[in-house]
Amino acid sequence: MKNNRKVVIIGAGFVGASIAYALTLKNSTDEIVLIDKNNNSAKGEALDINHGVSLMGSSYVHCGNYEECKDSQIIILTAGKHRDNGQTRMDLAKENIEITKNIISEIKKYYNGALILVISNPVDIITTLVTEMMGLPDGMVFGSGTLLDTSRLTCKVAEYMNLRPTEINCFVVGQHGECSFPVWSKSTVKGLSIDEYCKSNNLLWNDTIKGHINNSVRIMGADIISAKGKTQYGIATCVCLLVDLILNNKSTIVCVSSLLKGEYGIKDISLSVPSIVDKNGVHKIFNQNWLDSEFSSLREIGISLSEEYKNLINFH
Ligand code: NAD
Repeated sequence: MKNNRKVVIIGAGFVGASIAYALTLKNSTDEIVLIDKNNNSAKGEALDINHGVSLMGSSYVHCGNYEECKDSQIIILTAGKHRDNGQTRMDLAKENIEITKNIISEIKKYYNGALILVISNPVDIITTLVTEMMGLPDGMVFGSGTLLDTSRLTCKVAEYMNLRPTEINCFVVGQHGECSFPVWSKSTVKGLSIDEYCKSNNLLWNDTIKGHINNSVRIMGADIISAKGKTQYGIATCVCLLVDLILNNKSTIVCVSSLLKGEYGIKDISLSVPSIVDKNGVHKIFNQNWLDSEFSSLREIGISLSEEYKNLINFH
């Protein structure tokens, strides 16, 4: 591990700047570099964020160019088109594939061992592309995947049960957004299965309620975009957690997106499943014991996304 905890964020729009801001509050980094094709805007965001640092934390935030990648430990990709109201993440694929290809060719000129964390959407497609283009050891490229969906699910379940989110242990797997689903068979409330908890508290817990919660999680991003035009803070907090694990040598199990190589019967596409993330990136992918229906749902998502990826890549 190098001494300087340096993060490069490519794309200084709403998401990139929010990540930089959250990182300064968390104080997990020593240096944050913002790179954007609009250098002036990156400069303004960096100055604005940097001007709060003396009051809280010590990170140095500045804008820069791709040469900054050479001594960074994490490169975060947030550049590209964001969804407008009514668009799906897949609607961004063609344009964001092109943008990412150009960015990766710039990164490669200076690349010197950093982990690469993908946020740009569709995140599972872009993570697969970056993994293929970089050709790094397993786990060094990964996407935020369903970490945000998992956080959203935790909030919804906690709300339904009138508990604090910290009491709930549940997770979402699959493709970030519309094709994600919670692994209910492994969800607990402080160690009790949700079925058991609800039964003993006279709370209804059936397929209709689960379906309703699952659906609200899937469309939550779209709901936020329809209300305010963008999403930024939830994802920034998720990225902050991941950066803190990596730079400060901690490790935890989270659902993030990385290239599957036969796990859960899926190959050659990135999807989110429970994984250990530590200073090496995705250190281990778990093959958990789920219900048959949960396994089949993940496999269906894998087959369909893998086809879409091949079509998109052949198109270019
Ligand atoms: P934004 O439009 O505010 O910012 C995108 C930035 O990328 C802009 O500043 C633009 O100048 C820059 N950019 C575009 N092409 C570039 C290039 N070739 N080189 C360098 N910079 C370039 O969008 P946003 O709201 O910040 O969203 C960014 C991405 O993050 C989108 O793809 C969005 O869908 C995605 N996102 C992902 C999640 C997630 O959970 N994975 C959550 C929210 C948003």
